[in-house]
Amino acid sequence: MIINDPHQLTTHQLAQFNRQTGVGLLVGVVNAVVLAGFLWTVTDHRRLVIWLTAVILTSGLRLFVARAHAIPERVMLMPGHWAHIHLPVTVLVGLAWGSAALFLFPVDAFPQQILLILMIGATAAGALPMYIALPTAYGIYLVSVFGPLMARLFLDGDEAFQIMAGMLPVFAGSLWITARSMHFGLMESLSLHFNFQTLASLDGLTQIPNRRHFDVALANEWKRAARSGTPLSVILIDVDKFKVYNDTYGHQAGDVCLQRVARVLSDNLRRAGDMVARYGGEEFVLLLHQTPRDEGVVLAERLRASVERLGIEHSGVEGGKVTISVGGATCIPEPQVQEAALLRAADDALYQAKHGGRNRVVWGLRADVQNP
Ligand code: GH3
Ligand code: MG
Ligand code: MG
Repeated sequence: MIINDPHQLTTHQLAQFNRQTGVGLLVGVVNAVVLAGFLWTVTDHRRLVIWLTAVILTSGLRLFVARAHAIPERVMLMPGHWAHIHLPVTVLVGLAWGSAALFLFPVDAFPQQILLILMIGATAAGALPMYIALPTAYGIYLVSVFGPLMARLFLDGDEAFQIMAGMLPVFAGSLWITARSMHFGLMESLSLHFNFQTLASLDGLTQIPNRRHFDVALANEWKRAARSGTPLSVILIDVDKFKVYNDTYGHQAGDVCLQRVARVLSDNLRRAGDMVARYGGEEFVLLLHQTPRDEGVVLAERLRASVERLGIEHSGVEGGKVTISVGGATCIPEPQVQEAALLRAADDALYQAKHGGRNRVVWGLRADVQNP
């Protein structure tokens, strides 16, 4: 997948965040059960059961929301919505734990009191990996967990508890700082990874997608068009007498010429999803989704004319300017046919354009692909 849009990075972050939740939530529920067991003899049973139910229900809700957003594509389908759903659910999960301090704090049972404080702290710390992708959510979670505990400890007459209450923000703060620094580490490696992918899919000379990228895009588009029954067009382009151009003006001038041609080809693409790639040497290829033959021919002719209009001097061809030959083909893909058939049809058309005298467009027909 090619990612060069920061929004997509956020989407990946979010999907990452959601994939981490299962184990984290399970640990939280196990902690809650263990804690309830220890408090069984010193706390009201009805309260314990209600609290356990609340922890399990909120964790379940959290897991449900997370699962629904665990895949980047699904997250992308609902931009903006996630914040409205995730943050309240995060607060609920945090408050479920925080409420233990208010409703379960046992009177006159010092070991159990300490245990309860430790369990709440351990659960909040254990949730850290779940929140690395979204440290803001972790901050909200920490406030929901530690807020009620702090209030309870402050209101207790015991001086030791009041000191503990004073230490809680320090503890929560250090957890949050840890989450943030891990977050930046994660973001750096994610963006490095995405940049590498982007670099690996671009042609170094022309800065347009390379053939590898094109092949992947064509395979994907082929499947999509086969499912939807929509026409797909490809256009192959070859610069005319380019060997002579190099011999006449030098290889460096040849490179500049290829850059200018690549530029004018991409400038002619107006629809998102259409792509132009360097197919190799002085050849380019265009992928046009949902494009019937007529539209493909119009675009091909526009490309040919645009290159001619660049007016790059080329004494080796008729007209004295750099030109291209263009071969196109259209089909409605079928799953049992390989996309290579469409490329072959375009290649045959290009061959005819060359033999017909160059600087022209030929649109191909083939028996083994359906021609709309
Ligand atoms: P035709 O009109 O039949 O396509 O003739 P042509 O000379 O363009 O075709 P041919 O395949 O014989 O030559 C292609 C030339 O393109 C040869 C090669 O030196 C040149 N070429 C390929 N890649 C590059 C490149 O990256 N930079 C430069 N400057 N030249 C390149
Ligand atoms: Mg060639
Ligand atoms: Mg050529």
